[in-house]
Amino acid sequence: MPIRKDFTRADSSAMSTTGPATDLLNSDWRYLCCSCFVKISSQRVEITYQCRCCGNTNLRFIHTLENVTDGIQIEVGIECATRLLNDCEIPRIAENEVKRKERWRREKYKTPGRCSVDVEELKRKGKL
Ligand SMILES: [Zn+2]
Repeated sequence: MPIRKDFTRADSSAMSTTGPATDLLNSDWRYLCCSCFVKISSQRVEITYQCRCCGNTNLRFIHTLENVTDGIQIEVGIECATRLLNDCEIPRIAENEVKRKERWRREKYKTPGRCSVDVEELKRKGKL
């Protein structure tokens, strides 16, 4: 079993190695999409995502946000996405939807690939 990381270090003042974190928090962001990559166990593919905000590398689901001002896109984990969007619930809803798709892909199609959902799809499905 992998050791779960302690998430109590969310206190940004303790993270001196993540330079842009403060700027990220002071910007306005728009939610774009959530995605994950489904691996099938026989594959020797390791895909890890790193959160642009806190540097966490244990991400299975990544959330893409777009800067409202300059259009820059970043990929972050759910905690940071929620924080950057001022406690918005969209990241959680999106991640649940991607989890559902991931399970389908794993159990029904048994093929590796990317699962994702964007805001438009969530709206179309009446989730937002
Ligand atoms: Zn993060």
